[in-house]
Amino acid sequence: MDHEPALDLGEPLARDQPLPHSASGEVSLERDLSDLAPRRPARRWLPRRVVVTPAALEEPHGAGVVERVESLGIEVERLRSNRLTGVRGETDRETYARAKSTMAIVVSPPSRRRLQPIAPSADWRVDLAEGCPAHCQYCYLAGSLSGPPVTRVYADLDAILDGLADYLGTGAVTSRSGARAHEGTTFEASCYTDPLALDHLTGSWQRAVEHFGAWDAPVQLRWTTKFDDVAPFLGLDHAGRTRVRLSVNCLPVTRRWEGGTSPLEARLAALRRLALAGYPVGLTIAPIMPLDGWTEHYGHLLDLVEEAVRHVPDLDLTAELITHRFTASSREVLLGWYPRTTLEMDEARRAAKRGKFGNVKHVYPQEVMAELRTWFETRIGERLPSCRVLYWT
Ligand code: SF4
Repeated sequence: MDHEPALDLGEPLARDQPLPHSASGEVSLERDLSDLAPRRPARRWLPRRVVVTPAALEEPHGAGVVERVESLGIEVERLRSNRLTGVRGETDRETYARAKSTMAIVVSPPSRRRLQPIAPSADWRVDLAEGCPAHCQYCYLAGSLSGPPVTRVYADLDAILDGLADYLGTGAVTSRSGARAHEGTTFEASCYTDPLALDHLTGSWQRAVEHFGAWDAPVQLRWTTKFDDVAPFLGLDHAGRTRVRLSVNCLPVTRRWEGGTSPLEARLAALRRLALAGYPVGLTIAPIMPLDGWTEHYGHLLDLVEEAVRHVPDLDLTAELITHRFTASSREVLLGWYPRTTLEMDEARRAAKRGKFGNVKHVYPQEVMAELRTWFETRIGERLPSCRVLYWT
């Protein structure tokens, strides 16, 4: 008889507050996922296993995702409940490997339907999925995952999108006043996932873009991605109400620590295609790291960006600048997943920054931060004069 504990797919994957110890609340275990990231960037993620819950199958979008996945030749298992078994492998590493290659089509947990503020990026966070098949060794999600990282995609998309109307005209970041007031009420749809890692399987972000395109109100959808699969978005009626940002970094960072994502050059080509299709676009430069030779490496990144946006008519470009940081729990999880990582996560070299919930983030010391900030703001001003820097953190 199988006594394997089942995974409850009704539980959110990411907790809103950092967990005290490891991702699953257990002692830290070495899971070593280093070899799981594809050697070469995969153009499109194809999960090894896809499951759907009964409630998700009743949702029109859920049934549509099943159809889409099956048309790609992937079998979809119909579950009898929200409980998922068969994730546990012989070893802990195998369990995590299986989870990372599994996608579950589920109805979003009720907690996800009450939107949370997400400063400084946007007024509200809206989740269309949770989890990501990529392998960034600094992934900010690591500190808040509550179990094996099975990617959940939400079937109740219609209700999620319809629910956004309740938030119109609310929010503290962009709605009320200040330099971003013209953006209207902003909704960030990439907090716990990467949209273009999944959209070819779900179509959820295409639907969201169309929803905002048809929503004649001061609103903006925002999402950021490390993937380049933008072709399905180019012909959508976006009405300028979706800002897509490409998450970029200097080549030593993208090549060393962003397993399974699209190459930097492909991301910047995607940025150009979106901008030419009339989307407001952006750069999420993150996580910024003062590596040896950082001015040269980030200077090269700005060369590539300059080239990518050259001669784009009516370019609307923003930049969000985010330095590398970690918490004790994210560090513990990441070192369990990628024990041989060369990424610097040394508390002794960092300054402590206390968050709202009393959690401590380890950021770069003040003088390093000041040097980085000055460099980025000055260089972006010189090289990309039309680019608006939205925030630095
Ligand atoms: S693409 Fe984003 S969400 Fe996915 S692993 Fe990388 S940092 Fe994490």
